[in-house]
Amino acid sequence: MKNKYLALCACLLTLSTAGSVSAQQEHAWSIEIHGGAGDIARATTDAQADASIRATLKNAIEAGAKVLESGGSSVDAVEASIRVMENANSFDAGRGAIYNAAGFNELDAAIMDGATLRAGSVAAVTRSSHPISLARAVMDKTPHVMLVGAGADQFLHQIGGEEVEPIYFFNEGKWQALVDQLKREGKPVPPRPVGAPAIPVKPAVNQSAMLWKPGQRHYGTVGVVALDRKGNLAAGTSTGGSQGKMPGRVGDSPIIGAGTYASNDSCAVSATGVGEYFIRLTIAREVCVMYKDKGMTLQQAADTVIHKEVERLNGVGGVIVMSRDGNSVWSFNTPGMFRARMKEGGKVAVSIYNDEP
Ligand code: ASP
Repeated sequence: MKNKYLALCACLLTLSTAGSVSAQQEHAWSIEIHGGAGDIARATTDAQADASIRATLKNAIEAGAKVLESGGSSVDAVEASIRVMENANSFDAGRGAIYNAAGFNELDAAIMDGATLRAGSVAAVTRSSHPISLARAVMDKTPHVMLVGAGADQFLHQIGGEEVEPIYFFNEGKWQALVDQLKREGKPVPPRPVGAPAIPVKPAVNQSAMLWKPGQRHYGTVGVVALDRKGNLAAGTSTGGSQGKMPGRVGDSPIIGAGTYASNDSCAVSATGVGEYFIRLTIAREVCVMYKDKGMTLQQAADTVIHKEVERLNGVGGVIVMSRDGNSVWSFNTPGMFRARMKEGGKVAVSIYNDEP
């Protein structure tokens, strides 16, 4: 009896930083993901590509939901879902990362734990098949928040992380998209990556080519926000950045407060779009401040940053946002955003176009 009483007291006293709750207060878990925004219109999207991307989004959200359902943390769930999208080859993340203007891939990612405000991020990494897990390792294994370029690649090697040769990221459709863009812009076309197969006689047909037509605005970054049963929020984002970017360019995704943010005191956010605007406006944290301090609902906060702040600068993109009660919203100013959400006890809802709920 005495032991039971002591256990109950210990439970009630289990409070950690940034307002995480005591273990006896169970929350219903919730998860929301995105696979980027852009000119994804119903009229121009191939039916096969539509079905395939919906299936991929479903797989990705289910990977995170499985973690949450088994009592795992929101940080683990965010990482699990993002890893599926990094493997998919259909998003601008992990294996599917787009090319910079010099013809190679530089990837960015960040993850943040809303309970402790710990965060990890990497930028301009070239050999990580799962940058979200490398960002997680920065959070868990170093005293720092962000590692970039050669130092981050070296850290990946040191910890025996998932290291790949640059050719791992090769994809004919994405390569041709870069070549088309550079030609359109009158810029020099870099040599075809070493180790790439011969140029196919027929134009490449793949999911990416079916989804994105030349000249369309395409932001294929992936991101996840989640709430676990302990009431802890987390957010993560992973990207290959913007197609044809200058080597060394870093977008908003790995910048805490710009493309990624989570705090149990306010909300969790992952963004997609033209990173330069999201950095200038520190969008991810701005949403949380509007929600927490300015009395807005979650939807009002998300809509205000996208439709007022980002649009005021002629910026383009979207956000997914989750609050401590598991409410999840999204807001974007493009014809579509790949997205899905799921709550404990509920079904997966996948949406693409702006006329879908
Ligand atoms: N926000 C990303 C960046 O600027 C791009 C994207 O969302 O796809 O790097």
